[in-house]
Amino acid sequence: MRGLLLCMLLNTFCSAKAQNTDSITIRRITNEIMRNGTAYENLRYLCKKIGPRLSGSPQAQKAVEATMDMLKKAGADTVYLQPCMVPHWVRGEKEQGYIQWGTPEKRNLNLCALGNTYGTGPKGIRSTLVEVKSFTQLDSLGKRGLTGKIVFFNFPMNPEYIETSRAYGESGGGRRKGPAEAARYGAIGVMVRSLASNPDDYPHTGVTTYNDSFPKIPAVAISTNDADWLSSQIAQKKPLTAYLRTTSTLLPDVLSYNVIGEIRGTEAPEQILTVGGHLDSWDLAEGAHDDGTGVVQSIEVIRVLKALGIRPKRTIRAVLFMNEENGGRGADAYLKQAKAASEQHLFALESDAGGFSPRGFSLEMPPAQRSIQRWASLFYPYGVYQLEPGGSGADIGPLRAIGTALAGLRPDSQRYFDVHHASTDTFETVSRRELHLGAAMMAAMMWLVSEYGL
Ligand SMILES: [Zn+2]
Repeated sequence: MRGLLLCMLLNTFCSAKAQNTDSITIRRITNEIMRNGTAYENLRYLCKKIGPRLSGSPQAQKAVEATMDMLKKAGADTVYLQPCMVPHWVRGEKEQGYIQWGTPEKRNLNLCALGNTYGTGPKGIRSTLVEVKSFTQLDSLGKRGLTGKIVFFNFPMNPEYIETSRAYGESGGGRRKGPAEAARYGAIGVMVRSLASNPDDYPHTGVTTYNDSFPKIPAVAISTNDADWLSSQIAQKKPLTAYLRTTSTLLPDVLSYNVIGEIRGTEAPEQILTVGGHLDSWDLAEGAHDDGTGVVQSIEVIRVLKALGIRPKRTIRAVLFMNEENGGRGADAYLKQAKAASEQHLFALESDAGGFSPRGFSLEMPPAQRSIQRWASLFYPYGVYQLEPGGSGADIGPLRAIGTALAGLRPDSQRYFDVHHASTDTFETVSRRELHLGAAMMAAMMWLVSEYGL
């Protein structure tokens, strides 16, 4: 009995001691990044010197080259490219659109074509506008109500959800599959309310997916202010006509790359821990929060370990994925290579929810692997309190197929959808401190997993 008690006491003592050394290491990591971090300057380069980085564009290629250099400068043991073929969508000329209500009077709309859509043709399209507030309503209108019409999907983000990505997911159906569903009933075009949580005049783009069984009809996003105005006009039973003109198109796939830099593990190098974000961004913005921040934070994880001479036991690999926004081909290529080489992927962490103050990590893994939660108190001094089950990230998602434990950095989400996929997603909206604190928490998590496994 006494022996058992002694043993228990010793265990408690040892784990307390380990936690104490761990907290010192995490403090060193954080201090180094808060003082000397290079993520912010790397982000400035991506946003201001390169700019929008849509897959297949010359800027996306420049971003590949620039981040290779950044990873080399960060001190990665090896830096290499992983090829993948990506869609090459182009927006074309500035989109036009307006509303008329039976008089020569018209009101222009703030709009932009949705990603991966085809244009209206040079003359544009004109028709009666029909507002729908749910897919059930769309179905009940059916062919009789929708043939030849332009459908306006007005699905506002639910302001009651405190985690804004939940509202984005729920209201996002209008954008993701609205055009395909409207085409099923003979509609000739679609307008969607921007997936934005703030009332403003900026259209927010994003990808939509057509259904090959129905016509690929043109589709645009309109600003939240325009959507509210339009809905109020329709509520007054005004017969409204909409005009749209877009010239976007999909060109043949082009060759692009994931950019990878790694530090080889000292004890179990075959066990791979991935940390990543996505290199591509929409063409309208600098792609600062989405997802320049995830890219530069992942590079920072490599830099800080090298700068402090911390040698991880397992291999830590920063992966800057290509084509998250309109295809996910980089993510697919990463899984394919992992399978082909029979790589052992223990853990992956993604930062693709903005560069705001870190609040936690979402854990996408079976309960047995959530031993990560035992480290929760190590993060408390930095305002990081949530280590809860939840979705991780689109780029690492495919690794589910090979049983990898996944996690997502969860920054404060209140302002992310103010700028998400809009021209307002600029470098100026990112705080150096918030960005660097996020990088520090990612580095801490990667180091803990490299040290102890799962
Ligand atoms: Zn993103």
